[in-house]
Amino acid sequence: MAVFDTHCHLDIVASQGISVEQSLRNAMDANLAGLVQISTDLKSATFNSRIMEQYSKLLKGSEFSLRWTAGLHPEAAQELHTLDELFSLIRNYRDDDSFLGIGETGLDYFHTTEFVSEQKQSLNAHLKLARELDLPVVIHTRDTRQYEPGKTQSVSDTLQAVRDVGNIQGVLHCFTYSYEEAMPFVDLGWKVSFSGILTFKNSHTLHDAAVKLPLECLMVETDAPFLAPVPNRGKTNEPAYVVHTLEFLKKLRAEKLGEDPEKIQKQIEANTAEFLAFKGSR
Ligand SMILES: [Zn+2]
Repeated sequence: MAVFDTHCHLDIVASQGISVEQSLRNAMDANLAGLVQISTDLKSATFNSRIMEQYSKLLKGSEFSLRWTAGLHPEAAQELHTLDELFSLIRNYRDDDSFLGIGETGLDYFHTTEFVSEQKQSLNAHLKLARELDLPVVIHTRDTRQYEPGKTQSVSDTLQAVRDVGNIQGVLHCFTYSYEEAMPFVDLGWKVSFSGILTFKNSHTLHDAAVKLPLECLMVETDAPFLAPVPNRGKTNEPAYVVHTLEFLKKLRAEKLGEDPEKIQKQIEANTAEFLAFKGSR
């Protein structure tokens, strides 16, 4: 296995001018092992549920692994009324090989202070379904106090919700906080995924977290089309660019900890394989 983009939105990338087919071709050309196509609402979940069929020709004969999720993004919490339909889609596809799990769900106190109670309701419903169906969750959190260690309300509220429901595995996607905030999740067996933000010069808290966190919890992602890593910062992001975030992480840990880059690469691959096998593992 080579590097995997554990979180991207090919449908949104396409709306910014790079077709799904082109993204997939570029990812294969960049020797990615695969990607996880993440849902943000009912519409994208429906798109995701058809993606294997739609691109089967392109994927035929290749080892490239395409996995997908379904869930309601916290910024779409006003669409709470679509949850019933979304959840029946999840039940229908639960045992499909390409279906990975639930998300993205979570809490976002940065983009909107509206619909906070809807966001919490939605997160809780997703977590309960995840426990019932033994599926991992992909968690999105944002806060106005993003870079003040220990003060991210969206993370502590999410942790509380996860503990209340109990016995769930998942990933903190596009992680932008401190070591201290990640560790309670890592202790539960969760993964922590770094996006292109890690490669930005001023992401000091994040660089610190990426060095301190145990190697066994780390994964990488693009969150494409958002947040393209250096040297493509400012461009439309796409899965192929995940290699830059991985290289940055390897270099950072090799420099600060003296870890062997080859060993880092192998462990991140193993972590990703473990994450991809979370479904049905409890
Ligand atoms: Zn996302």
